[in-house]
This record gives sequence, C-alpha cells and structure tokens, in this order.
Amino acid sequence: MRRQSLADVDWAGKTALVRVDFNVPMEGDSITDDTRIRAALPTVEYLLGQGAKVILMSHLGRPKGEPNAKYSLRPVADHLQKLLPDRVVRFAEDCVGAGAEAAARALEPGQVLLLENLRFHPEEERNDAGFAQQLAALGDVYVNDAFGTAHRAHASTAGVAAHLPAVAGFLMEKELRVMGDALANPTRPFVAIIGGAKVSDKMGVLKNLLPKVDTLLIGGGMANTFLAAQGYALADSLVEQDTIDLAKGLLEQATRSGCRLLLPVDLVFADRFAPDAPHQVCRLNQLPDHGMALDIGPETAALYGGEIRRAHTVVWNGPMGVFEMPTFAAGTVAVARAVAEVDGVTIVGGGDSVAAVEQAGLADRMTHISTGGGASLEFLEGKRLPGVEALAPKEGA
Ligand code: ADP
Ligand code: MG
Repeated sequence: MRRQSLADVDWAGKTALVRVDFNVPMEGDSITDDTRIRAALPTVEYLLGQGAKVILMSHLGRPKGEPNAKYSLRPVADHLQKLLPDRVVRFAEDCVGAGAEAAARALEPGQVLLLENLRFHPEEERNDAGFAQQLAALGDVYVNDAFGTAHRAHASTAGVAAHLPAVAGFLMEKELRVMGDALANPTRPFVAIIGGAKVSDKMGVLKNLLPKVDTLLIGGGMANTFLAAQGYALADSLVEQDTIDLAKGLLEQATRSGCRLLLPVDLVFADRFAPDAPHQVCRLNQLPDHGMALDIGPETAALYGGEIRRAHTVVWNGPMGVFEMPTFAAGTVAVARAVAEVDGVTIVGGGDSVAAVEQAGLADRMTHISTGGGASLEFLEGKRLPGVEALAPKEGA
C-alpha cells in the first residue's frame, strides 16, 4: 500500500493538524528569511481551498522544554497573516491544553490556527505518548509537511500519527519523490559530489551512494583524508587520521564495484586558516611542507565540471572548500555553476551546500534544494526516517 497524500482525503469541514517546519532565522521579533514559511504555503492553501480548518504546529530554535518568549512563534503567525491576507490566521499561546482546544474548536473552515512552539514542552522531543495524544485531539487528520525534522522521532513528527489518519504534505511528498526517484531509478550518468569538512560525517552517505552512482567526485576537507590514504602528505591540512583506513576501504570498494571515484588533482594551499592568508595552487606531485588545503584547485574544478555537465542525475552534498571565505570559494562556485547547467535532475542537500548555492545565486537553477540538512543526509545514507515511517498506511486503514 502506498503512502497517502493530501488528495486522498475529503477535507471539507475537517480539521487538518499539520506539522510544518517554521524554524526560521530570527533577529529579535523579525524574521530574517521566510523561505520555510513560504515553502509550506502550497499545502496550507490547498487545505484551505478544500474547505479544511488548518492547525499548524512547529518548533522554533532550542527552548529546552520550557516557555521562552525569545522562541515564540507569534511573529511567525503575524508574518503568515501577511502572506495570507484574505484568510483569518489565529495564534494559540500554547500548543496543548484548554486554550489550544478552545481555539481549535472555534476555528472555521478556511481559517488557520498556528500553535505556540512545540518545544516549550519537554514531552515533544521525548515523543511522549500522552502529549502526542493531546496534540492529536486537536485535529481529524494529521499532515506532515516538515521533511527537515523527519529524521527525529518526536511527538509531532512520529507519535501523533498513531492516533490519526496520517498523510504527507506537498513539501514532504516532493522531497521523498525527487530524492527517492534519483536514488532508485536515476537517469545515467549519475554523478554524486560529496564534500564538506570530514569523511566521518558522511561515511554512511559515501557507502550508500557508491554502488548506485557512476561517478563519485570528492572535494572539500574530506578529500584530504582520501589523499592521505593514497600516501600523500598534506602538511597542516584537515586530515582525519582515524578515518584513513575507512577511506582506503572505500577506495577499494569503488574499484570493485566499478564506480569511478575521483579525487582532486590540485589543491589551493593557504599559509593559515584566514580569508587573507597567502595561498597558492599546488598539484599533487608538488605539495608544500607547510600550510593547509582549503579549496580544490582550478584543474580539479574543470575536471569535476566536465563530469558534472555530462551527467543526467546529480546529487550534491558538501562544499568543495572553505567557501565562507571568498578566497577559497572558487571550487565550490565552479561546481555550483556546472550543476546549474546539467540537463537532468539536480539535487542539493546539506545546510552549507545549500547556503553556497544560494550565495552563488543559483538556487532556482537546481531541480531540488532539500530543505532538511540532517534529514536529507540520513535519507542519502539510506536510513529510515521516523517521520516518514509514521506516514506508512496503518493496518486495517
Ligand atoms: P553540508 O552542510 O553541506 O552538509 P558540511 O557541514 O559537511 O556541509 O561541510 C561544510 C564545511 O566544510 C564548511 O564550513 C567548510 O568551510 C568546511 N570545509 C570545506 N572544505 C574544507 C577544507 N578543505 N578544510 C577545512 N574545512 C573545509
Ligand atoms: Mg553543515
């Protein structure tokens, strides 16, 4: 049986209890980036259009299980009202209890109620059964549209689904469909680009992708550990000594499985970890005995760019260098440009990679920008996500 979606429910007069990801960046009372709020609008507007009453619930920040005005979702409710000028948007000062229940009862079809931060209650992250039941009592059907928290088994992402019919929202559907199809049924050549600081962070991703992709391009700090595994000396570069053997194992696995695993052929070496540090491009046969590799070199960028442009499916996770410093961003920008030119499906996941793509102004050139950093990483690792498992059809339903 397949997972149910919004279109499988007759919404007229029903109350949709929707888990969204409104964990937006704030400065004081103002929202500095409302991308996540706007990303939830297709689901919210669809439900309202179908005549549902819509209750939204989310976390914001890390309030440590107690009320804290700094993490109130009230400014988000005000912002949502501006985005939905023709709708009534209400706010409940607690996500459970008499106030929330009264507000839910007073809601009319076509109206929205945003509940206060779920994490004001420690029971949320504990996936407490009683708390999940209190949440569930507010609605008729549960909708999960928060892919970004799907790797957590919390009351609002997992527990609540035990008490109500549960369906996926549009955003959740899109994440699972685009990433699921790419991994299960890619149009080839399928190229994965994996970077970031450390191999150990992404061991699971590398292992899961190796047998699936035609070509694996490795950059960023993690490339250093692979180069060390091949016997290169990288001076003061970030190298994970404990992970060198695992890197060797992956190189062998790649050879056995016929996956082309490419490593940088040149690196940008800096005297120190600073934006204004003197730096030079070094080929692997002339690595310096001091300084650190902070970016892939231009020859590598061109080589990787060529591989990427020929691909029809690309998954990218992790920058090619310390892109936060403009001096060491060239490799990441070159890869972002190549991915933007791909004729096929391109998926970018990972908080820093997404930031790099946005910084380069190329976000709208990608097929899919995954909204969930941790969740997309676990998805790429092939792990089961509790928030997705909870949407599996129930026995007898
Ligand atoms: P993502 O968030 O996209 O999954 P990661 O968090 O794994 O990416 O890695 C991003 C971080 O890796 C960035 O802060 C970047 O500065 C760092 N990084 C990339 N290349 C290097 C390098 N050569 N040396 C040190 N740090 C690096
Ligand atoms: Mg990161």
